Amino acid sequence: MRALVVAAAGSQPEVRDVPRPAAPGGGVAVRVVATGMCRSDWHAWAGHDEVSFPHVPGHELAGELVEVGEGVTKWKVGDRVTVPFVCGCGHCEWCLGGNAQVCPDQEQPGFTHWGSFAEYVALHAADRNLVAIPEQVDFATAASLGCRFATAYRALVGRARVTEGEWLTVIGAGGVGLSAVMIARALGARVIAVDRNREALAVAAELGADHTLLADGTDIPSAVGDLTGGGSHVAIDAVGSEQTCADAILSLRRRGRLVQVGLLPPIGGHPRVPMSRVIGWELDVLGSHGMAATDYPGMIALIEAGSLQPQRLIERTIGLGEAAELLPRFDQATVAGMTMIDPTR
Ligand SMILES: [Zn+2]
Ligand SMILES: [Zn+2]
Repeated sequence: MRALVVAAAGSQPEVRDVPRPAAPGGGVAVRVVATGMCRSDWHAWAGHDEVSFPHVPGHELAGELVEVGEGVTKWKVGDRVTVPFVCGCGHCEWCLGGNAQVCPDQEQPGFTHWGSFAEYVALHAADRNLVAIPEQVDFATAASLGCRFATAYRALVGRARVTEGEWLTVIGAGGVGLSAVMIARALGARVIAVDRNREALAVAAELGADHTLLADGTDIPSAVGDLTGGGSHVAIDAVGSEQTCADAILSLRRRGRLVQVGLLPPIGGHPRVPMSRVIGWELDVLGSHGMAATDYPGMIALIEAGSLQPQRLIERTIGLGEAAELLPRFDQATVAGMTMIDPTR
């Protein structure tokens, strides 16, 4: 099969012929029809994660089952499927409780094993991790859910429990942030989007943000306070820096909820967080990490009904060759939307 192979951390990726993966025990092999490129793929390419090289990245995917491993009971060849980027082991206490997104023995295609920038990919613990794609939903739309969209959905619906009429501040109008804007609007919340980039804010406004704030040194919390009469009910930090985390917390009204999605990597030292405000105003601080397959049906129902349209974030579709050229520069990619790969191209 053809695959985008990274020989060593930071080296120029190449499209090569490599052996097709077989279905592991309890898992499946999938013919990849659509797969999204995200910044995490760039981190894997750069060697920031514990990936072993040579490596094939890719973790946002949808396709058709071509082989079913021993012990799989719920799936058959020909099924249209997608997966969350975190695949649980399928048998620990968290997986059995429907929270595979925090499984201590999780597999992540494109990180713990070869991913979906290829014609075929292997997936583990299929009975727990696969999600069926309804006929009305196309493969590219399904692939666009796997990482950023599902992460935003889980953050707002599963964690912060955003309700109609509440104010939401979204810090960072990238993939997660723009997904959050769309989901919040579908839930009937009012949205303020914050970003350093004017174009990203223009996209946020197009997708339904009520207000946008340019982070150009402006006092974001006081601007949010003015717009909302005392702060937003919920804030999501989709960037993950000391500044954005603090802005998100200080933008909340009393008893508000923060969802932290941006990773705040400890590489820059542990971030200072305004905990005195958290205590004094009884704020809830919630972490959110991906989404389990068990939570997909609610999200997919909204997509089938047309009230959520993740495909609006797909900006372009490219082939594997173009993807190989693009990956090393993806940290500087300026497009606000998603880049989809068609591995047959
Ligand atoms: Zn598990
Ligand atoms: Zn991703």
